[in-house]
Amino acid sequence: MCEFDVIVVGAGFSGAVMAERFASQQDKKVLVLEQRPHIAGNCYDYSHESGITVHHYGPHLFHTSKEHVWQYLSQFTKWTPYEHKVLGSIDGKLVPIPFNLNTLYQLYPVAQAQEIETLLIEQYGAGGKVPILELRKSQFATLQQLAELVYEKFFVNYTTKQWGCSPEDISPEVTARVPIVVSRDDRYFHDKYQAIPSQGYTQLIGNILKHDNIEVRLNTDACSLLALNNKNKTVIFDEHEFTGTLVFTGMLDQLFDYSEGELPYRSLQFDFQTLDTKEFQPNTTVNYPNEHAYTRITEFKHILQQTSDKTVIVKEYPQDYDRHDPTKNVPYYPIFNDKNHRRFDAYKMRLNGFDNVISVGRLADYKYYNMDDAVGKVLEVFSSLAD
Ligand code: FAD
Ligand code: UDP
Repeated sequence: MCEFDVIVVGAGFSGAVMAERFASQQDKKVLVLEQRPHIAGNCYDYSHESGITVHHYGPHLFHTSKEHVWQYLSQFTKWTPYEHKVLGSIDGKLVPIPFNLNTLYQLYPVAQAQEIETLLIEQYGAGGKVPILELRKSQFATLQQLAELVYEKFFVNYTTKQWGCSPEDISPEVTARVPIVVSRDDRYFHDKYQAIPSQGYTQLIGNILKHDNIEVRLNTDACSLLALNNKNKTVIFDEHEFTGTLVFTGMLDQLFDYSEGELPYRSLQFDFQTLDTKEFQPNTTVNYPNEHAYTRITEFKHILQQTSDKTVIVKEYPQDYDRHDPTKNVPYYPIFNDKNHRRFDAYKMRLNGFDNVISVGRLADYKYYNMDDAVGKVLEVFSSLAD
């Protein structure tokens, strides 16, 4: 007999919030299994020897318009306001991304920029946001030319590096994350709440998991302990039937031993550098759509406005995911297209009949969740259980 009512696989945002809900709302005893040597999933951060807070799996900027997610997380952290701004290296200049009216005036002569601005406002409204793939379909020659420039200089090469294919060959929602913005707003995100946990994400997720009913075991690959018996729809944990609830936030293909084929992911290689200089670049992130093999450089000290004689930067090199290669085996991004979704759906079907298994999270849902999406989804799933 297992002493726990709930087993949660993964100690990222999804696993932590689910564990907290079961522990605090249903007084369940929860065991959290995490394969990494730390909690917090891809949001894991730590204090570097320079005193700068470094995000180990790439820059994580919290933003949400989901009131209930903001209220929920605010029980566990204080926040430091932060509005993310990104510059792009385009034709030797650093210009604002997303492409907005400020970018327009930096790249075009004033008279031409004015003409384009007027047309953009007429077509999409002041403050409008237009995905690049939609702007390319404009019936106006002036806007078609603008779209070609933005596509060529901002999107096509970045996307090819990031995804290994052109913007047309991935789901349109991916490039729509960074639309053309018809305003002078240089911010990367436009959500109501934009802030960083003042003591970091690891501390925030540690606070979520801090409950007498929750035990966390690190360095534990749950898939080596778990099996789903398809015949009688039972969960086997550590060679015994587990009759409590299993929450799985890992990859469904791994859970089912890749029997439907591997789900494709995109991975990254991070090149961290500590430099003996106070400032490397003017803001947190600079994108390099057209130069270099990396997509962007992030300088961490800007995020919490930390001061140090040194600085820490990271360059992100996208690469194929390969579960057999330790330099490529972190599945950072699910790759969206119809074929991959069909394979994912086949795995999801295999969970049918397992009434005590919940799969949720960026990996288990095979979705491009931001942090607030992941938290929002878990809160929704949990409240639907109580109904
Ligand atoms: P994860 O954080 O991936 O956690 C899943 C956990 O499960 C991992 O710790 C994993 O080790 C563990 N696990 C998996 N399988 C097993 C197993 N078999 N046994 C034990 N443990 C297992 N979102 C934003 O809102 N803003 C940003 O700026 C932002 N930037 C990002 C930048 C990058 C480079 C990436 C990759 C993501 C970014 N995100 C950002 C998205 C954010 O990371 C996710 O929304 C969030 O981490 C999802 O949490 P999760 O718990 O679902 O998944
Ligand atoms: N993108 C681009 N050029 C940019 C920024 C983004 O082509 O300068 C595209 C690219 O396809 C990228 C997607 O928009 O993968 C989403 O960008 P986002 O910054 O949201 O990516 P993330 O931070 O999730 O890696």
